[in-house]
Amino acid sequence: MKAAAVVLFSLIGISSVQATEGMWIPALLKAVEGDMQDMGLKLTAEDIYSINRSSLKDAIVQFGGGCTASVISDQGLLLTNHHCGYGQIQSHSSLERDILKNGFWAMSMEEELTNPGLTAMFIVRIEDVTESIQSARMEGDDAEKAMRESLTAAATEGTDYDAVVRDFLYGNQQFLIVTRTFKDVRLVGAPPSSIGKFGGDTDNWVWPRHTGDFSLFRIYSAPDGSPAEPSEENVPLDPAHHLPVSVHGVDEGDFTMVFGFPGRTERYIPSAQVEHLIDELNPTRIGMRTASLEVINAAMLADDGTRIAYAAKQSRIANAWKKWIGQNEGLIDFGTVTEKRQAQVELAKAIRSQGLDEYSTVVGDLAKDFEALKPYLEARSLFIEWFYYGPEILRWAAEAGDIFEMAGDKSVADSTFDARAAEVLSAAEGFYPDYRNTVDEGVFAAVFPLYMEAMPEGFAPAVAQSAWEGGKGDPKAIAADLYGGSILDDGTEFMALLEARDRKGLKKRADDALITWARETSDSYWVKVREEYGKRQGAMDENMGRYLQALGKVYPDSTFWPDANSTLRLTYGRMEGSEPRDAVSYKPFSTARGVLDKYVPGDAEFDLPEELVAKLRAEEYGPYADADGNLRVCFLGSNHTTGGNSGSPAINATGDLVGLNFDRTWESTMSDVRFDADRCRNIMVDMRYVLWVTDIYAGATHLVQEMTLTERDPDNVGPNWRPFGTGTGMGRGYEQDEQELRDEFRRRSMERMQERRQRMEAGGN
Ligand code: ASP
Repeated sequence: MKAAAVVLFSLIGISSVQATEGMWIPALLKAVEGDMQDMGLKLTAEDIYSINRSSLKDAIVQFGGGCTASVISDQGLLLTNHHCGYGQIQSHSSLERDILKNGFWAMSMEEELTNPGLTAMFIVRIEDVTESIQSARMEGDDAEKAMRESLTAAATEGTDYDAVVRDFLYGNQQFLIVTRTFKDVRLVGAPPSSIGKFGGDTDNWVWPRHTGDFSLFRIYSAPDGSPAEPSEENVPLDPAHHLPVSVHGVDEGDFTMVFGFPGRTERYIPSAQVEHLIDELNPTRIGMRTASLEVINAAMLADDGTRIAYAAKQSRIANAWKKWIGQNEGLIDFGTVTEKRQAQVELAKAIRSQGLDEYSTVVGDLAKDFEALKPYLEARSLFIEWFYYGPEILRWAAEAGDIFEMAGDKSVADSTFDARAAEVLSAAEGFYPDYRNTVDEGVFAAVFPLYMEAMPEGFAPAVAQSAWEGGKGDPKAIAADLYGGSILDDGTEFMALLEARDRKGLKKRADDALITWARETSDSYWVKVREEYGKRQGAMDENMGRYLQALGKVYPDSTFWPDANSTLRLTYGRMEGSEPRDAVSYKPFSTARGVLDKYVPGDAEFDLPEELVAKLRAEEYGPYADADGNLRVCFLGSNHTTGGNSGSPAINATGDLVGLNFDRTWESTMSDVRFDADRCRNIMVDMRYVLWVTDIYAGATHLVQEMTLTERDPDNVGPNWRPFGTGTGMGRGYEQDEQELRDEFRRRSMERMQERRQRMEAGGN
């Protein structure tokens, strides 16, 4: 029987964290409401998250499992990043219709593009179930499991909801999260990559930034408003809330909050683990990805078809690669290892002096836990790098390889074989068009030696080990041998055999070294690494839970925000720049001037569409210019974000959408482990640039008209201003407010257009 963990984490005060550090659970915002209001927020915690009426949370979705998006019209229009919709944009692209390159704008709903498998998940409610779970835990694992099941069953019975009980703060807190997932999410608009990915890898994680990293989708529901598989019967979603879009914009010092699904942070890991991250893990992973990117980048530059085929794959590899480089620099610069070590010593001393005997070994235990975990952590990370981010053929062979065995297995009925052959064929039709065997073989040869050298003793799969030793370290020869001898290398013959359901032909090719490699690589991971890794990580997590309890006891007035775990969180700060390095000062926003300054015609990363250049040169900003006549492009904030916050809305003090989160500055990438309020800044696209690109550059004015634009100035709404009506659903008061805002915006736009025209006629630009 386990002892119940003591729940110590009441959210009182936020003295231990720096003002803007933390990713807060929406259901517990009361604790930070005062702080947010002191910083300028005009809403209440209930306006942001409510289960009794519509609130901001009803406009936020987890997009496709890994990103965030927000609902920005009363017809389910969704805003997310270009890099979040990248896979879908790519999947609709071909050499004939290159929407990656040229962009895409559906001029009517009929033109919107379906994306099977893409989902948008809303949060219905988040409920603290710590007490129920922890008292069940007192009775043992089975009772805890049963409690989790009964809570989720009760939450979903008779509904189209899903539910899960998630652990927070290393098992010290549990929340029941009830969700509703829509499955018909269509592509509505995407700028050309030269806008959406402007600056490419060079500018990724970098400030100053000039990227219009946005794309538009739309959620469809069944006619009765419920989630449904993609179908022509479906209708645009009528959401419980959509965010008004601010044309007033945001200025230095203004309150901002970012609402979304941050993926993973490691705020509390011990010093030894940070040291390992800096000295071992990051350098190895960076090295492996550098090697594969060299091969892929060269191939993409040399051939347009390869550029399209590898676009999403290249971005996936390059993104974390560059982040880790910045993360290491930041963690070293801040002396994070020493800082953590000192904090651990302090804690251990305080535990002793306060007589908290049950925690007397916790700091030492964690150090031992990490030592025991280390080889497994390395083997696991290297497996991920090699198998999921290295050569694709291994993954593909693991996915498709069973068809060869089935072909030769007499106990498998023809009908079963045929069904599987059809499945593999359809997967092959998805795989091969985006696969280039010479590129993949090059990646294999470049990454394999790094993988083998870094793998801790005894963990490499046997086939890899013997090829490595037998090949005397000649990775090119090993790769040539493997790829040259495999039917999977070039899909033609393989697909023909599948098409013909040719059991004999497939059986003859069953003796394929690549298939053995793939199987052994994945099997050896599951057998030698995964299970033991899970046990050791589990043991360490339990002690991490005790460590956090000890922190709570020693520092009872402090708050310890729970690490990100892909659940909905709110983070808040201000629009502000920073001085991240000696003599370097980051201004808080960038403008269209910088887009033109960076423009390099014909360059793979800094080229721009001609019409965009012309319109920016003519300063054709329409109603989207700021008070000084500039078109703002991106801005910085002190909101604590991480991966998964990509696509999250940046919302101002009155609940209006002012920006779209998409990145952090290079110096901030350490913030998953160590946040610094003076240094760490997230990067957002200014909504006025999103509107400008959609309306004035692309001419998709109907989409802007569909939104609820507002010129509302949060500083001038008055003390009694309320955004939401009091009833359930969208309250009357709010609807009236919206209509006024729409009218006001139209009037102001006309005025500005006229002013501009007069200036131009008078000889201005
Ligand atoms: N650009 C980031 C990402 O790729 C967002 C972040 O980590 O701040 O997820």
